Amino acid sequence: MIELVDTHAHLNLIDSYKKDLEEVIQRAKEAGVSKIINVGIDLKTSIRALELAYQYQGLYATAGIHPHEVRKVTEETYATLRALLQDQKMIAVGEIGLDYAKEYSPRAQQQEHFLRQLALAKELKLPVVIHSRDASPDIMDLLKQELPEKFVFHCYAGSVEEAREILDLGGYISITGIVTFPKAENIRRIVRFVPLNRLMVETDCPFLTPVPHRGKRNEPAFVKFVAEAVAQIKGISLEECARQTTENARLFFRL
Ligand SMILES: [Zn+2]
Repeated sequence: MIELVDTHAHLNLIDSYKKDLEEVIQRAKEAGVSKIINVGIDLKTSIRALELAYQYQGLYATAGIHPHEVRKVTEETYATLRALLQDQKMIAVGEIGLDYAKEYSPRAQQQEHFLRQLALAKELKLPVVIHSRDASPDIMDLLKQELPEKFVFHCYAGSVEEAREILDLGGYISITGIVTFPKAENIRRIVRFVPLNRLMVETDCPFLTPVPHRGKRNEPAFVKFVAEAVAQIKGISLEECARQTTENARLFFRL
């Protein structure tokens, strides 16, 4: 049986999985998803991710303030974030970054808190999960100012040129179910370009549900469809794709 890691999930969004969390986790196990990393977007969801990590085997947590949420950050937020990140079940800082597409927080604040959380990750020697939307070249400029030892661009949707820069800096690129969408030729181009030893797969559930379940709520079991699409693009078997992306996730997050 294949083994997969869903490197970016949001089972910590309580409302989305209120009715059937147990079944969702069970279906993931049956689909070969041995590990699920629940990613924080603010303090509340980071705390919930940690609770889940203590409650269920194979679940892990990250903590961070998403660019959408940084306008609400205070000094107290950082004190709590730092304390949370020192828990042994916390395996990364994230998701942090810049989102100029929606721009729910002012750009200057997004930049300030991205840098500050990068510095925190470096200090605590944790890998970083980055969210970036329409934020080039600022995202790369800031990243280089506080370059963490390990980082991944989650749900990567940038150019091949930027992907090359990320790889040159030692970064990883993570692919969601968008890769299965008929119009997403830009993502398939990225998959062709990035070497298999720098790729990870994720669902970003409950969002971005892959074909053939598009339109429904997403869940970690569906990361298999992402891995299948990546395997097809790379011209390798699902087994080989699963083996290598799982190994990448294990090394990156020290699972
Ligand atoms: Zn996410």
